[in-house]
Amino acid sequence: MANLNIDSIKDRTFDAIVIGSGMSGGWAAKEFTDKGLKTLVLERGRDVKHLKDYPTTNLYPWEFPHHGVMPDDVQKANPIVNRCYAFGEDAAHFFVKDAEHPYVQEKPFDWIRGYQTGGKSLLWARQTQRWSEFDFEGPARDGFAVDWPIRYADIAPWYSYVEKFAGISGNRDGLVELPDGEFLPAFPLNAVETYFSNHVKKTYKGRHVISARCAHLSKPNQIHLDQGRGQCQERTLCQRGCPFGGYFSANSSTIPWALRSGHCTLRPHSVVESIIYDEKKGKATGVRVIDANTKEAIEYYANVIFVNAAALNSNLILLNSISSRFPNGLGNDSGTLGKYVAFHNYSAHINAEYDGAKEWTTDGRNPAGGGYIPRFRNVYKQETDFLRGYACGFSAYRWEQHSSDGIGQDLKKNLVKKDLSSWHVGSHMMGETIPKETNYVALDKSLKDPWGIPQLKISVDYDNNDEKMKKDYVEQMTEMFTSAGFKNIQASTDHRAPGLDIHEMGGVRMGKDPKTSMLDKWHRLHACNNVYVTDGASMTSTSCQNPSLTYMAFTARAVDHAIGELKKGNI
Ligand SMILES: Cc1cc2nc3c(=O)[nH]c(=O)nc-3n(C[C@H](O)[C@H](O)[C@H](O)COP(=O)(O)OP(=O)(O)OC[C@H]3O[C@@H](n4cnc5c(N)ncnc54)[C@H](O)[C@@H]3O)c2cc1C
Ligand code: SF4
Repeated sequence: MANLNIDSIKDRTFDAIVIGSGMSGGWAAKEFTDKGLKTLVLERGRDVKHLKDYPTTNLYPWEFPHHGVMPDDVQKANPIVNRCYAFGEDAAHFFVKDAEHPYVQEKPFDWIRGYQTGGKSLLWARQTQRWSEFDFEGPARDGFAVDWPIRYADIAPWYSYVEKFAGISGNRDGLVELPDGEFLPAFPLNAVETYFSNHVKKTYKGRHVISARCAHLSKPNQIHLDQGRGQCQERTLCQRGCPFGGYFSANSSTIPWALRSGHCTLRPHSVVESIIYDEKKGKATGVRVIDANTKEAIEYYANVIFVNAAALNSNLILLNSISSRFPNGLGNDSGTLGKYVAFHNYSAHINAEYDGAKEWTTDGRNPAGGGYIPRFRNVYKQETDFLRGYACGFSAYRWEQHSSDGIGQDLKKNLVKKDLSSWHVGSHMMGETIPKETNYVALDKSLKDPWGIPQLKISVDYDNNDEKMKKDYVEQMTEMFTSAGFKNIQASTDHRAPGLDIHEMGGVRMGKDPKTSMLDKWHRLHACNNVYVTDGASMTSTSCQNPSLTYMAFTARAVDHAIGELKKGNI
C-alpha cells in the first residue's frame, strides 16, 4: 500500500534521486551533492560502511573457519556465484547468493551481483582503461548496432576528471588505441613480464605488453588523502574491502564524500520497483520503492532521476515502469528496451612455463595483476573474418613448493625445505561481443521476486563471431608464446555461460535516432528527459576494455548536463 501521508511528502521530495549506490551511482551522488543538490540515494541492499563493515579485512588465513575455501555445501547451493573467482570465504558476504534473488535463464547466464552500499565496486578487479576513438567509431565503421552519439573527444575531459579523484595507476604508454590518462605511478612488470614485453615490442608491430592500469593509490595525491584514503600496501586482499582505502570503491570514496557534504540521504534496504511518470507533466516525478524489510511501498519525488542499478537491473526498472503513455516500459517508444544486450567473452586462456629468469625469486605481489595487451586486431581497419577484437591479460608467477614425500623425519625435513617452482606464464582473453536484437532481457510474465516485482528473464548467448575470435586469440597467443621461448604451452577454451565476465551491458542503448535507441548523447531518455541512465545499460557497443571507468566518466558528464538543464528550467 502506498504511503500517502501528505505531511511527509515534503520529506520525501529531493532535487535528485539516484537509484543504486555502486560504482556509477556513487559518482552521481558525489557530483550532485558537490553542487549542493539535495540528493536521495536509494540502495536495495544493506549499508556497508568503509572500514567498519569489512569483517575479514585483517584476518590471517588460519583465522577463517575453512582456511579461505568455501565449504562444499555452500558451493553446491550456489553453483552460479561459485563460478566467480572472487567468491571465497573472505568475500562471500558481499555477493548475492543464488537463491536470494531469483531470475529466469531462458538461456544460461551467470548473473553475478553485489547488493549493498557500494555494489560491485567493493569486489571488482580494478582494471581501468579508457576507450579510444576507434571504439566509439566501431559500430558506424564496421556496420553493427547503431552509431554512438558521442566520440572520444566528448568523454576525454571526463575521463581525466574521474581519474584524478579515483586514483588510477599506469604508465603513459603513448598508444593511440589505448589513450593515456591522469596516472599515478604504475605497478611495474616483474622480470618475466618485462622479458615478454620486450620480446613482443621487438617482434610484433602494433602489439604491446604494458603494465596493467588499475584503480590503486600507488602514490596518493592530496585529493585522495582528503577522502581519508591512503597508499596501497600491495596486500592483494582487496575483495575483502581495503583498510587503507588503497583501491577505489564507492564505499571508500564517492559515497562517504557525498554524505560529508550534508546534502546526501542514503536509504539502504530500498528496492526501487518503478519510476513514476506523470502523463500531464510529461515527465518522471519520482520513484516507487519497496522497503526490503517491511515490504511497505513508499514514493519519493525529485526533479531528476539517475538510474544506476547496474546494467540488467536498470533494464528491469525501466521495463517495470508502465504507464498508458509507455505501456512497454519507460521511454520505450523505439521498442529497443531490453534488447541489444552484450558482454565480454572471457572463455579462452593460455598457460605455459619459462625456463629463464631463475635468478628472480619473487613475482612481486602486484595489485594490478601484471600486464595488459591492448587490442591489436581490426584496430585501424577490418582485417580478419570476425568483427572487432580482444585484449589480453598477461602475468608471470612462481611459487614456493614443498615436497610431502617420505614419512617421519624425512617427511618433516621435506616439508620445511623451501623450493621454488619454475616460472609460469598465463593469459586470458577479453573479447568484444556484438550487440544483437536477439540477445535480450524481459520481464517474466508470471514469476515475481519476494518483493512482488517481476523476475528478469535473460536470453543472451554467444555467436559465431565469438567463436572465430576465440580461435584467433588461441592462435595468436600460442604463436607469441612460442616465439618468446615459453614451453609446455597449454591453450584452453571453455563453454562458460555469458555473464561470468561481469561486464554485461546494453538494453537501454544510446543513439542518435530515437527510433532505434533509448538514450540521447547526454544519457537521458529520448522520450522522458529528466531520467538519465549512466551505467552499463547505456552502452551501444562494448569494446574490449574493462568498462567501469567509462561508466564513471559517463555519469559525471551526465550529472553536469542535468544540473545545467535544471538551472535553465528545462527539466
Ligand atoms: C569479481 C569482479 C571483478 C570485476 N573486475 C572489474 C574490473 O577489473 N574492471 C572493471 O571495469 N569492472 C570490473 N568488474 C565490474 C564492475 O564491478 C562493474 O562494472 C561495476 O560495479 C558496475 O557499476 P554499476 O554502478 O553499474 O553497478 P554496481 O556497482 O553493481 O552497483 C549497482 C547498485 O545498485 C543496487 N540496485 C540494484 N537494483 C536496485 C533497485 N531495484 N533498487 C535500488 N538499488 C538497486 C545494487 O544493490 C548495487 O549496490 C568486476 C566485477 C566483479 C564482481
Ligand atoms: S592491494 Fe592495496 S588496495 Fe588491495 S587490499 Fe592491499 S592495500 Fe588495499
